[in-house]
This record gives sequence, C-alpha cells and structure tokens, in this order.
Amino acid sequence: MAEHGPIVVGGHEVQPGCIDGFELPIGRLVTGTAMALPVRVVHGSTPGPTVWLNAAIHGDEIAGVEIITRVLRDLDPLEVHGTVLAVPVVNVWGFVGGDRLLPDRRDLNRSFPGSAAGSLAAQIANLFMTEIVDRSSVGIDLHTGTDNRTNLPQIRADLDDPETRRLAEAFGAPLMVHARNRAGTLRQAATRRGATVLLYEAGEALRFDEDAIDSGVAGVRRVLGATGVIDGPIGPDDPSLASRSTTWVRAGRSGILHLAVGLGDRVERRQVLGSIDDAFGNSVATVRAPRDGMVIGCTRSPLVNRGDAVAHIAELA
Ligand SMILES: [Zn+2]
Repeated sequence: MAEHGPIVVGGHEVQPGCIDGFELPIGRLVTGTAMALPVRVVHGSTPGPTVWLNAAIHGDEIAGVEIITRVLRDLDPLEVHGTVLAVPVVNVWGFVGGDRLLPDRRDLNRSFPGSAAGSLAAQIANLFMTEIVDRSSVGIDLHTGTDNRTNLPQIRADLDDPETRRLAEAFGAPLMVHARNRAGTLRQAATRRGATVLLYEAGEALRFDEDAIDSGVAGVRRVLGATGVIDGPIGPDDPSLASRSTTWVRAGRSGILHLAVGLGDRVERRQVLGSIDDAFGNSVATVRAPRDGMVIGCTRSPLVNRGDAVAHIAELA
C-alpha cells in the first residue's frame, strides 16, 4: 500500500481513517460575532483523490446542504480511498438570512478566485480556493433555481473536456447541459487551477425538493465511485440526456399564468406551454415553445409580468 499520511486543512490535522469537523474563520459580523466556514473532512484509510463537495454559495440554495448531509452519513472513512472535503454552507451570511447574496450585495459566485485583501466576497472566495480547491482534483458545486424558479435535476459542465464529461455521465442526472465557464464563478476559478468541476442545479431556493435531493445524493455517490473514492456504485441505470443549447421562454403579456407543462416534459416547436389570463380568467396570451426540446426549468409564480422568464427549454443533442 502506498504511503498515506494525515491531511492538514485550515491548520487542523486529520489522520487516515478519520472524520473531523471544524470551522475556518472568515471575519466577523458588525456586532463583533465571529463567523466561520463549517468544514467536514473524511480522510480515507487508503490513498486516492481528494474531492470537495460544496453547497449554498448562494445562501438561499439550501437543498445541497441536505444532499451533503446524506452523502456524509453513508461515508465510512475506513472504506474511503482518498479524501472528501465537505463545505455545506459557503455563503454563511446568506444562509442565515435566506439570502442569495452577501451583506454587501455581492454575488459570491461572481467573486472567485478572490483575494485575502479584497471585499468580504473576495475573502471568502480566497479562503475556499486556498483551503479546499487547491487540495482537490475534483469538485461538485450544488445549486438550485433562483427567483421562484425550479429546475429539473441537471449537471452544468464543460462537456467538451473528456474527464469532465466522464464524471458528468457518472453523476447520471436526467440532463447534462454544456455550459461555458462564466467569469468569477467557482467553477471557472477551480478549473483554471486544474480541478474537474461539476455544477449541479436542481429544485428551487429555500425548499427541500425530494426529487432534487435524491438525484443529487445518488449522483454525488456515483461520482465518488467513478473517481475511486468509494467502491461503486458506477454508472446510472438511465444515461443522462445531453444539451448544448437552452432558451428561456418569456411572458409576452402580464397576467396570471397557467402552465400546461412541467419539468422533464418533451415539447415540440409551437406547442402551447401555457396561457396567460386576466384577473377574470380571459386568456390574453399563449406561451408557445420556440423549439423542440425538454422543459428543464419553470417559474413557480402564477403571476407574471411581460418579459418574465416562464419556462426554460433545452434542445436535446
Ligand atoms: Zn446558485
């Protein structure tokens, strides 16, 4: 067996075959109360890759916290090869207040890689990069829909990169969407430092959607299997569909929306997706699919203003 020593994260040394939890200090509230990033390290008894799991970079996207909890519950460090670094709540401030953003109204997922001397968002990003990303070869960033929208469980990743695609296929969400890296995201910053990163989107903010959580738990476990961190499971029963192009359909009029389709529905170009009615039930507009595809996201609000996003359609490859 290869030599395998302790891992040190944030100055905490974790021995092989052990689980340890601690907090990484990240400054204070205006009241002086200390804030910290909670971290759990599962350091396997045998060597292998280091995989990080994180959720709630957007503080109101809480479903991923539950996904990480359930994955950790079943991880036995004596059976782990390598290391799992789990950070269930990255935007601690937003999580406490049910807010996507940080107190300075910055989006943490536009603030990577950050810097030690920058804004609060930059400091958190820098801490996450140096303590978590720089120790890992693979990462899974867990998100949900925003603004009263819900998403079909889906992986967003660079499907042109063979290793990223292999792990996206192993995750086995209903859909994989090829998504280019956006400036300032954790995914972009970590990819530039050599990590393979999957972004999981499922369910809606501030809610625990069991489908989204189940699909996420199973997917994370399969990625841990595919990287060799745990022994199996490898490969989903049903392969993921793939998409390289998605479109949001917007409301043509303001009114009360009655959606006729749901997540995962296949639709054809010109198909009626729903009706927008006035307050007396008279239809004022029809929402139609702009292309053939699958519904991968939709609004949860029956009240729409002209221009609001109503349904997200993925063109299937
Ligand atoms: Zn998000």
